[in-house]
Amino acid sequence: MQTILEETKFIMNKYHIRANKKLGQNFLISDTTVQEIIKNSQISNEDLVIEIGPGLGTLTKELLEKASKVICIELDNNMINILQDRFKLYKNFELIHEDVLKVDLKNIIKEEKKKGKIKQAKIVANLPYYITTPIIMKILEEKLDLDTITVMVQKEVADRLIAIPGQKNAGAITYSVYYYSEAKEILEVEKEAFFPAPEVTSKVIQFKIRKSPKVNVSNERLMFKIIKNAFTQRRKTLLNALTNTNIFQSKEQGIEILKSLESEENVRAEELTLEKFAEITEKLN
Ligand code: SAM
Repeated sequence: MQTILEETKFIMNKYHIRANKKLGQNFLISDTTVQEIIKNSQISNEDLVIEIGPGLGTLTKELLEKASKVICIELDNNMINILQDRFKLYKNFELIHEDVLKVDLKNIIKEEKKKGKIKQAKIVANLPYYITTPIIMKILEEKLDLDTITVMVQKEVADRLIAIPGQKNAGAITYSVYYYSEAKEILEVEKEAFFPAPEVTSKVIQFKIRKSPKVNVSNERLMFKIIKNAFTQRRKTLLNALTNTNIFQSKEQGIEILKSLESEENVRAEELTLEKFAEITEKLN
């Protein structure tokens, strides 16, 4: 049996292509990693799977065997030809040649659900690392009708995404992820699992979308604006960061709000839970 590395090299030779670094092309060549992703995605024959960046189709091939339908979104022309050839006999395969950031995922899921064959939608992807954050934020903020998102990302990014707000490693994005989903680590993946090998270690992580957001807040946009401003001046105290960015009208107002939250005047952004940011939002709204 051909290994994934042999298969990858065979396809690349056949189509005379090289991995395009600018598009984040690091193809998976580890069979165990592929199997772990598939196993943990828990795909059934009632699932729609949206795969972002299918590349040569290594994950796609496995997804097509399990899912009711697989919709792949790929930007690179070269990959489009390969994928169309490779999966032309699969009736449950659909390919969208587009930048994923421009695709109306909400509508795709809605239309597929209307057809009645699928019960839930999942996203599975070995993401292009140069746009990991915009892709994840798009998926979460658009409040897509999804069950889970299982993605490979750079290790450092993974650690921030799955951190708990108010604890080590938390950044502004941690709060957004936590608001919309429960995130967990699936496995760490070494560089050698890819061809060509990237410069960084990776992790597969999974988000389970919450039925309703983690906290109730009357002005979601304002809360995320506050969090963003709190973290852009990370080294400063929360009081200074939010005063400097005019979120607090004055230092006095800030001190009063922090007092009412029973937080110290010198508290830092990363020490605050999501609930506390929600409370600040309500007081300012
Ligand atoms: N899924 C394949 C695998 O695991 O071997 C390839 C993963 S590779 C890390 C990322 C893929 O995303 C590449 O195929 C790349 O062309 C594609 N890609 C990059 N930017 C994209 C974008 N904006 N929209 C859709 N696909 C993109």
